[in-house]
Amino acid sequence: MRPLRWRIAFLGIACLVVLLLGIGGWRLAVQEQSIARERTRERLENAASLIVRECERALARVPPGDSLSLEWDDGRLRRTDGVPLLWSPLPPSPPDPQDEIFAAAETMEFGARDHVRAIGLYLPRLAHRDPAVRAGALLRIARCERNLGRIGAALRTYELLGAFGDTPTGGAPAGLVALHERAVLLERSGSPEVLRVRGLLRAALETGHYRLDRATFAFYSRLVSIPESAQDWAEAAGGLMNHADGYSRGSAIITVRGRRLLAEWSGERNRGTGRLVEIASVQRAVAEAVRMPGLRWQFLDETGRGLAEIGPQTGGPRLVKRSAETGLPWAILVRPGQEPAPALLSPVVAALLLAGVAILAALFLAYRAVERQLHLAHMQSGFVAAVSHEFRTPIAVLGHMAEMLETGGVPDHRKRVYYATLGRETARLRELVEGLLDFGRIESGHYRYRSETLDLVEFVRALADEFRGQGAASAHEIVFEATGEPPPVSADRATLRRAVWNLLENAVKYSPPGKRVAVRVAASGNGAAITVRDEGPGIPAHERRAIFQKFVRGAAARDANIKGTGIGLALVDAIVRAHGGRVELDSQPGEGSHFTIVLPAEVGS
Ligand code: ADP
Repeated sequence: MRPLRWRIAFLGIACLVVLLLGIGGWRLAVQEQSIARERTRERLENAASLIVRECERALARVPPGDSLSLEWDDGRLRRTDGVPLLWSPLPPSPPDPQDEIFAAAETMEFGARDHVRAIGLYLPRLAHRDPAVRAGALLRIARCERNLGRIGAALRTYELLGAFGDTPTGGAPAGLVALHERAVLLERSGSPEVLRVRGLLRAALETGHYRLDRATFAFYSRLVSIPESAQDWAEAAGGLMNHADGYSRGSAIITVRGRRLLAEWSGERNRGTGRLVEIASVQRAVAEAVRMPGLRWQFLDETGRGLAEIGPQTGGPRLVKRSAETGLPWAILVRPGQEPAPALLSPVVAALLLAGVAILAALFLAYRAVERQLHLAHMQSGFVAAVSHEFRTPIAVLGHMAEMLETGGVPDHRKRVYYATLGRETARLRELVEGLLDFGRIESGHYRYRSETLDLVEFVRALADEFRGQGAASAHEIVFEATGEPPPVSADRATLRRAVWNLLENAVKYSPPGKRVAVRVAASGNGAAITVRDEGPGIPAHERRAIFQKFVRGAAARDANIKGTGIGLALVDAIVRAHGGRVELDSQPGEGSHFTIVLPAEVGS
């Protein structure tokens, strides 16, 4: 298959894998989400049922301090525990019959503004058989005395009025009116007695001693300020009566100073019973009975607002049980306590992703391997072509000369030249074949190195001399140099020869005729170095590593059609490594190349 097709096929498979995994993962994620939703709903349902049960239980036994039972009879509202309410709704009082009895005296008091004579007209009423009239007369006499500035007399008269207790006068019980008016007068006159009287007034109001309606209570409590909290039950009882008005049975949620109370009642307008329950108390009892880690709940009123809220409101899944479903006086809202941190990846999806990544990685590696094989195959075919080319020339020369000699077409004086050429070309062919065979053996690790101690100066000098005698080197100046005293090395003579020879061959092959090729032996660190230096075109930086791989040829060499197989430097590298050394390349385009073989000194030298 052609490389492009390979790439397209791999890309197609990778896309397909990604697509399949994506679809699978998405479907799994959707499915998991719906299972999670279903589970949450089930949990919330169970929790709601439990809360409903506990609510019923808590409502059946609210602690006495948190609830209040009431009853009413003929419009009279009472607490069943006998404790009086500070006030309660009262039936409207009939018009005051005393108005006519006091009409003449009041004309004198208000019309003629003659208070003394008005007192004279009020006095006879003190003997009236109706205590309400007697109390009314005392109230009016005290008023006149105040207006006359007789404060002491007025205070005494009010004291007398106080003895009439519950008897209504001026729209309120006489006892309360008397205490209130005394407190007002004493206050004005700055008497210390005011404290005692105010104390009495407060006690009368706080103990619910008198039956008062809300407005009367409010008026008479102005001087003594009764704490609002003490008025809550009376307020709530009033609220209950307002709701119960006309309905035989029912319940409502009422708010008194921010406290939410449940009001329940049954009965008629004239007779019935009722109950007030602190909702927070029920909620506490339920909270104690129902311990559900990870869940939050609260009661809602009919408008959906929270009653005695527990915890902050959040979005997310929630379940509401309306009172129509549960029979409770409120709705119940249940929701998960904390928003579950959205799991970035569920285990299944994560596993799927991991599998996807693994498959893609495997595909990528396979792709790389195939690419590499294709590249190698490509280079190998180039190598085969190059080798054939290398062989073709000497074979053609040999064939041609043999034919000439055979047909007697060569004059005797030319025969020597022909034989010499035959020998040279045969040697070149042998060199080529040997080179290839050595490469095969060395690369596969089958070559058997025979180490011996070599004096590199002598060894390389002889090699340079031999190379200089070669026809291929005739156009170049081959120079040998030795500097310092390089230590002897332990090496395989044949392969080391081949390595240096290859470098020399390359130097003359790639540099123009007439240039100088220097081969130098020197000490280097703990070992010795053989450097082959030419004045050729140099090697571009991006090729300096690759040319040491087998079958790789430089672009310039290929373009200039310079013969070569691409195995020369790979062979040099393999040989030098086998000797425990390394090959260094120093080259600048246009400034020639230096190839240096660095070998370790022989052990013990
Ligand atoms: P070959 O010479 O048969 O092509 P080699 O492995 O000996 O193979 O060299 C690989 C490549 O390195 C050459 O094709 C050439 O491009 C580059 N090269 C090697 N030696 C030199 C040199 N002395 N000067 C410039 N280029 C060189």
